[in-house]
Amino acid sequence: MKAAFLTGIRQLEIRETPPPKIKGPHDVLLRVGVVGVCGSDVHYYTTGRIGSMVVKYPEWTGHECAGTVVGIGEEVKRLEVGQRVAVDPLIPCGHCDQCSSGREHTCRNQNFLACPGQGPGALADYLVMPERSCYPIPDGMTLVQAAVIEPLSIGFYAQRLAETQPGAKIAILGSGPIGLCVLLASRAASDCMVYSTDLLDERLAMARRCGAAWAGNPKQIDVVHAIRELEPLGVDFVFECAGQQETFDQAIELLKPSGTLLMIGIPEVDRISFNIHTLRRQEIRLQSVRRQNQCMAPAIELVSKGVIKIDPLVTHQFSLAETKQAFDLVADYRDGVVKAIVHVSE
Ligand SMILES: [Zn+2]
Ligand SMILES: [Zn+2]
Repeated sequence: MKAAFLTGIRQLEIRETPPPKIKGPHDVLLRVGVVGVCGSDVHYYTTGRIGSMVVKYPEWTGHECAGTVVGIGEEVKRLEVGQRVAVDPLIPCGHCDQCSSGREHTCRNQNFLACPGQGPGALADYLVMPERSCYPIPDGMTLVQAAVIEPLSIGFYAQRLAETQPGAKIAILGSGPIGLCVLLASRAASDCMVYSTDLLDERLAMARRCGAAWAGNPKQIDVVHAIRELEPLGVDFVFECAGQQETFDQAIELLKPSGTLLMIGIPEVDRISFNIHTLRRQEIRLQSVRRQNQCMAPAIELVSKGVIKIDPLVTHQFSLAETKQAFDLVADYRDGVVKAIVHVSE
């Protein structure tokens, strides 16, 4: 089969590799249909690492995927051949303390698709996944929509952790795909007031389209001052989706006393600092968000019912042979890209 491999910094090749086989009774073999390009894939592509996770070349890539079941292990019960599924890229061990307490996303022995030394990549003709990681999609849903379910589930999970109430004031710092997914999930959950920021004007336009009441570019205005003028008491929640020291600082300045900072962005640096005195005097709560937990199914439901419209997020589409162009486009933030997807087969 054909599969995409990272072969060096900013190098990616489509290579021939043996197709995977069903190993366990609960495995399913998928014909990969569509794969979304994620910011984390691009981090590995441009820098070769995220924190302590370091790429050893050649390395698989791609994890946001949807496909069709073409083979099943003997004990697979929920799925059958021909079914289309959205894939949760996480393969949990199923028996550690985290898995036993409903926290598979922090499983101590997890394999995640295309994380260095862990699972294979989704940018391949075929993929074997445990049945539990595959979520059937309804007939009306496209594979492109299904490939965006995983990032949407992260927005949904962050929103669920925040437990925002109707009328909540929310700032979302960073309006890339994850920031926009947080926005869509927040607006779907309650009638909240959302202030969005980003360095790219196209993304601010997209944020307004997705339901932000206000959107501002920190390259052009002092966003803290501008939001504070509209919300003199500060905001209840900040979703940090950029991973920059600057946005963490803005978050602390925007929050009201007892406000909550949800940390979703992936910083390129290993350490971020806070003004500890503001943090403690305002009794600000910090909540990190590790991908998502059990939010794939509710995300599928919200999209299939039309409550959340994710189609506008998909701005660019490529073939498997064009995967490198897709990665370069996302890495360079060119051409108004939000979510680029790769059609492996369809
Ligand atoms: Zn992702
Ligand atoms: Zn586990």
